[in-house]
Amino acid sequence: MDVTPILDSLNDRQREAVTAPPEPTLVIAGAGSGKTRVLVHRAAWLIDVEGVSPQGLLAVTFTNKAAAEMRHRIEALLDMPVQHLWIGTFHGLAHRLLRRHWREAGLPQNFQIIDSDDQLRLIKRLLRNLEVDDSRWPPKELQWFINGQKDEGLRAKNLHDDGDPQRRQMISLYREYETLCERGGLVDFAELLLRAHELWLHNPELLAHYQRRFGHLLVDEFQDTNAIQYAWLRLLAGDAAVPFVVGDDDQSIYRWRGARVEHIRQFQKDFPGTKVVKLEQNYRSTATILNAANAVIANNSSRMGKNLWTDGADGEPIRLYAAYNERDEADFVVGRLRDWIDQGNLRADAAILYRSNAQSRVLEEGLINARIPYRVYGGLRFFERAEIKDALAYLRLISHRDDDASFERIVNRPTRGIGARTVEEMRQYARANACSLWRAAGALASDQLASRAANAVLAFLHLIERLARETAGLDLHEQVDHVIHGSGLIDFFKKDKGEKGETRVENLLELVSAAKGFEPGLAEEEMSPLDEFLAHAALEAGEGQADAWEDCVQLMTMHSAKGLEFPLVFLCGMEDGLFPHQRSVADPQGLEEERRLCYVGITRAKQVLYITYAEQRRLHGMDSFAQPSRFIAEVPAEHVEEVRPRVQVARPVRPMRPSAGAGRRPVDAASEAGIRLGQRVRHRKFGDGVVLNCEGQGAHMQVHVNFETAGTKILVFQYANLELM
Ligand code: ATP
Ligand code: MG
Repeated sequence: MDVTPILDSLNDRQREAVTAPPEPTLVIAGAGSGKTRVLVHRAAWLIDVEGVSPQGLLAVTFTNKAAAEMRHRIEALLDMPVQHLWIGTFHGLAHRLLRRHWREAGLPQNFQIIDSDDQLRLIKRLLRNLEVDDSRWPPKELQWFINGQKDEGLRAKNLHDDGDPQRRQMISLYREYETLCERGGLVDFAELLLRAHELWLHNPELLAHYQRRFGHLLVDEFQDTNAIQYAWLRLLAGDAAVPFVVGDDDQSIYRWRGARVEHIRQFQKDFPGTKVVKLEQNYRSTATILNAANAVIANNSSRMGKNLWTDGADGEPIRLYAAYNERDEADFVVGRLRDWIDQGNLRADAAILYRSNAQSRVLEEGLINARIPYRVYGGLRFFERAEIKDALAYLRLISHRDDDASFERIVNRPTRGIGARTVEEMRQYARANACSLWRAAGALASDQLASRAANAVLAFLHLIERLARETAGLDLHEQVDHVIHGSGLIDFFKKDKGEKGETRVENLLELVSAAKGFEPGLAEEEMSPLDEFLAHAALEAGEGQADAWEDCVQLMTMHSAKGLEFPLVFLCGMEDGLFPHQRSVADPQGLEEERRLCYVGITRAKQVLYITYAEQRRLHGMDSFAQPSRFIAEVPAEHVEEVRPRVQVARPVRPMRPSAGAGRRPVDAASEAGIRLGQRVRHRKFGDGVVLNCEGQGAHMQVHVNFETAGTKILVFQYANLELM
C-alpha cells in the first residue's frame, strides 16, 4: 500500500510526522522512540515524494558524527548520493556560511578558529598585558562570561554595567578580548554562532537568498539549542520556510552551555499552528531498562510529561556492582567485556559511559592490559594533544602571521633562546603599538633588543618565512610533513627519551596521515586546503579519530552519548559528588539536569545495562570516599540485581547518610594535628565542611575538605586556619 519504501517500518505516529503537510512541525518524544529516524525519513520523503531539491533542505544535528550518519541513512533510503544537502552541526553550518561570506561577516578571508584551550590562553595573555590581577579576575571566569554573553547574542557594546564595578570590569575585558580577536583574525566557537547570526541581521539580501533556498529546516535534539542558535534558525526560517524539529525535554543536558529547553515552547509561539506529534513507543530498550529510566526521570518536577512504553521483552535485570575502588571497578568492567566478546558479540556494541572525562584513564588502563581495543570519544582528543597543537601553531602562523596565540605557543618551542623577558618586551611593544606579536618581534629585533635576543628572534622570524616559502605549492600532507621536520619539533621530541617522547613523535607523524586522508569539502568557499585543514582541526577535534570503524569498545561521557544506542552499556562512577556532580547537588535545577543526564545514560542501553560505583576513588590525584549515587536508589529494586555482594563491607543500595564511610582509614599526619577523616571543620571564608582526606606530612600536609556551600577544596593545613568542631 505504501507509495514508497520510505514509509516502511514506521509506526502510524511516525508516519504522520514524516508525511506531515509543509507546516511547522514539532515532534516531542522520549528516548528511543524514533525521533532521529523520523527526521531521516522526512528528509527522504521530501526529496523523493514531495520533489524538494536536496539543495532546499538544511538539517541540523548535534555532532559531526551524527551528521555523517544522517547523510548516510538518507542516501541509503533514496539509493542515491545527496552531496548538495546541507547537514551539519550549528557550528559547522555557521562556519560554512562564514567561509563563503567572510567579507559580509567582517572577517579576514583566512580567519582562524580557536578552540576553548586557545581561547583560555588568549584570555590569560590579555589579562597579563593589561596587568589585571588574575586572582581577582580568574581567566576561566572571564572565558565563561564572554561565551555566556555571546551565547545570548550579546557583544560588549550591548552590555550595561548597572553601576556594578565588577561587571564594568568584565565588560571592559570582554571588549579588549574582542579587539584582540579582531586583530588576529581569530574566531572562537561562540563567535562562530554570533557572527553567523549577525550575518543575517546585517545582510538582509543575503538572508533573503538563503530563505529562498532553504524551504525546509530539519533539526534534531532541538531541546539543546541555545539562544543564539535559536535566533539564527528563527531568522533563517522567516515566514516561508517550514521548520521541522524533534526533541525531548527530558534529554536537555546542555543548560550549562546556554541551551534552553524553553525554546520548545517558544517555537510553538513563534510558529502559531505548529503541528505537534508525540511518539510514545520505545523501540530501543528492554522493558526493564525502559521502566528504570522512566522511574528515575519521574523524580524531576519540571517536565512536559509523557508516556513511553515498549512491547518488547523484559530482558535481563540491571546489574549493580559496588566496587571497592576505581581499579576494582575497571577490573569488573573488563571482566564482563571479556565474557561479552567471548560470547561472539561485537566489541563496538559495548559502551562504557561516565560522567567526567578524567574517569576514562583507569578504564583505559584496564582495557589495554586485557588487550581489548577501544576508542575514546572526546577527552584527550588527537587535535588537542600538546605536540599536535604545536605543529598546528606553526601551520597557522605560516598561514596567518598575526595569529598571536600561535606565535606565543611556538616562539620558543623547540627552545631557541627566547626567554620570558624578551617575550614580555614583545607583548608590551605590541600593546603600545596595537599590533600583532609578529610585527612587534620584527620591530624589536631590528633595533631595541640585546643582540643575543635579537638574533634568536630573527632566527625564528626567518624560520617561519622560510617554511612558508618552502611549503608554498606543496600538497597538504607534504606541507605538514615539511613543517613538523623543518620546525625542529620532531627532533625536539626525539630527544625526549622514553615512551612519552616516542608517542609524541608518533602523533606528529599521525598528523601527516591525517592531512593525507583529509578531504577538503568546502572547495566552493575558496579556502586553501591548509586553512581548511586547520579549521577542521579546531572544529572537529575529538570526533572521528582514526579507524572509526575498527571493531572496538566505545568509551565516552554521557554527554557525548546523546542520540546513540548500544546493546551493552556500563554506567560507571555512579557516586554522589561525581554523578550527580558535586557542583549540582545543592542546586535543584542543576540536580534535575544531572537526572536528565542519568536518563540519557540509562536509555542508551538496548539489552544489557551495568551500573557500577566505587566506595573509594582516586580522581585528579585525590582520594575520596563516596556514597552510591542517589539516582541508583531511584531505580525500582525489582529491576536491579546486585552482583557478587561482598561480605566485609556493608554496601547498601540506598544512599547512606554522609560520612558513614569515612574514618575507616587512620591518617597519621592528620591525627597528630588533631584532624581525622570525617572531622567537621570551619574555615573563615568557605564556612563549614567535612574532611575527606589528608595527604602529605608536616608543613606540606594538605587537607581535602568538602564545604557545604563552597564545594571541595584542597587546603594546605598550615595556612588554612581550620577550626575543629
Ligand atoms: P534519542 O532520544 O535517544 O535520540 P530517538 O527518539 O532519536 O532516540 P531513534 O534513535 O530514532 O530514537 O530510534 C531508536 C531505535 O529504535 C533505533 O534503533 C531505530 O532504528 C529503532 N526504531 C525506531 N522506530 C522504529 C520502528 N517503527 N520500527 C522498528 N524500529 C524502530
Ligand atoms: Mg535521536
